[in-house]
Amino acid sequence: MRILIIISAISLIVFAGCNHPQKSEKQQFRPNIIFIMSDDHAQRAISAYTRELIHTPNIDRLAEEGVLFSNSFVTNSICAPSRAVMLTGRYSHLNRLRDNRDRFDGDQLTWIKLLRQSGYQTTMIGKWHLKSEPQGFDHYNILIGQGSYYNPRMVENGDTLNLEGYTTSIITELALNQLDKRDRDKPFVMLVHHKAPHRNWMPEPKYFELFEGEEIPLPSTFFDDYSTRSAAAREQDMRIADMFLSTDLKLRSEYIEKETGTGGGSKKWVVPKDAMDKQLNRLTPEQRKLWDAYYDEVGRKFKEANLSGRELLEWKYQRYMQDYLRSIASVDDGVGKILDWLDENKLADSTIVVYTSDQGFYLGEHGWYDKRFMYEESLRTPLIARIPGEISGGTTRNEIVLNLDLAPTFLDYAGVEIPEEMQGRSWRDLVTGNDNNWRKSLYYHYYEYPHGWHYVKRHYGIRTDRYKLIHFYNDIDAWELYDLENDPGEVNNLYEDPEYAAIQQELEDELKRLRNVYGDTLSLQD
Ligand code: CA
Repeated sequence: MRILIIISAISLIVFAGCNHPQKSEKQQFRPNIIFIMSDDHAQRAISAYTRELIHTPNIDRLAEEGVLFSNSFVTNSICAPSRAVMLTGRYSHLNRLRDNRDRFDGDQLTWIKLLRQSGYQTTMIGKWHLKSEPQGFDHYNILIGQGSYYNPRMVENGDTLNLEGYTTSIITELALNQLDKRDRDKPFVMLVHHKAPHRNWMPEPKYFELFEGEEIPLPSTFFDDYSTRSAAAREQDMRIADMFLSTDLKLRSEYIEKETGTGGGSKKWVVPKDAMDKQLNRLTPEQRKLWDAYYDEVGRKFKEANLSGRELLEWKYQRYMQDYLRSIASVDDGVGKILDWLDENKLADSTIVVYTSDQGFYLGEHGWYDKRFMYEESLRTPLIARIPGEISGGTTRNEIVLNLDLAPTFLDYAGVEIPEEMQGRSWRDLVTGNDNNWRKSLYYHYYEYPHGWHYVKRHYGIRTDRYKLIHFYNDIDAWELYDLENDPGEVNNLYEDPEYAAIQQELEDELKRLRNVYGDTLSLQD
């Protein structure tokens, strides 16, 4: 035991002492990696980014002790595609998972497989959502499909388990159990991937009353009329106004006259008014008692108020936001438990911890929930990392980083060579101030249309530090250009505005260049 401690102490000195490690030095110390990801967590719902909505003390602690990326984005803002990008370090058109219909080809090269080959113990706990069986893990325990908020069914190394409890807490506990059982002769990489705060935002009982009685402010673009933009912004189906009263807003059938919303399915998939009742039947009697004690009162008040028009819309917004933010409170608790475990096990100084989401989310901006669009709220994703020894706490980086960069970054920290085929870039040198040639623009491409939910038209585009150019295609041919400095809410489309002609030309040229660089040059109609 004493020998192990001495070896570990020497390793720490090596890791802490080299800000510009040569390759051979990088390989001497191999940090553990804990990669925590939530699902649909907007930057605006983390207090390290802004204090306007929620206090997330544990995620904030990571930022206080590490680096926060203020301009972190995804390349395709939807669940499964973002996960595939993170695993492979390749854009959707090359990893071939372009939308949620596709199945991940698990035979592809991933950073997980490379770390395992190089001697890491690899574990995946939580939401996987890629349809194919996880490859490259010594141990996995994943939710089936989207998973449920309570009493989840999970698959552990091929065997199905029925678990009882609140899923966010279960995922954290399963991760800690595996960490306790880890192979102490190997460095480890642990993926802790939450379902929360994905729709339908069912909170943990202890947070039912969080934000009760508080008025959550409406974003400035809540009543957006989409007037300067293409049909894409108007013809989506992701308005809070159209949410399901039952499953989204948690009303049981006895409190609803009839289900009114489209819920994002453009009436193809309207749910019956007892849809929430059916979900609640999965709860244990004890869980159900706690649930009804709070949500029946919500239902009674709703029925009594008999709301319509703007009052009803604002009620929907408050109801949505309360449950969304409550679901995040449990995710934050989980981050705290993992950081505490690292402290208790004296591994904090040798373990990298990364927190991110698979993309951002609309919290009422443009009147919406969900993601998909290349507009800021869903293009952005939180990214906070604690890198012991290499960066001091409270660091902020403003450069454009992408979910595409995670695979090469993890490989870099682990001292494993980054394969040519990976298209992202390691930000290891960027965060220490030793990369003066970082990207100045990002490339984006979204595909899930006309199938799937929410009817956001196909589009691709680029964003620089100030401007954004988007091309919507498929059953439309429309361009949008935004000046993010003058118009951060993206309500004023400047495409073909003569004052922006030179900028538009530069952006179009840069877009062509990026499509070539990333090899996304096939026909846009396939
Ligand atoms: Ca997601």
